[in-house]
Amino acid sequence: MNLFRNTKIDCTECNEKFTNHEDLVTHVRKIHHHTIVKCTECGQEFIHEKHRLEHFRKEHKEKKARDRTEKKLFKHRGFFKT
Ligand SMILES: [Zn+2]
Ligand SMILES: [Zn+2]
Repeated sequence: MNLFRNTKIDCTECNEKFTNHEDLVTHVRKIHHHTIVKCTECGQEFIHEKHRLEHFRKEHKEKKARDRTEKKLFKHRGFFKT
């Protein structure tokens, strides 16, 4: 969840360091013209697809798991058959 908090992030292209992930993304896009991938759920930008997937798994899959838990409550009302 706090993937980028309190960690300095190195630009993989030039080793410049950033404390803010957004600054890094802006830097990489402007300086290195790197392709930026966007989270389809919340629009957050990432330099690497694997970072996006990691974010997606942590930020959104957990949320979906919670939704599932909430849906279990509806079972009692007969909305879901499991
Ligand atoms: Zn750089
Ligand atoms: Zn997201």
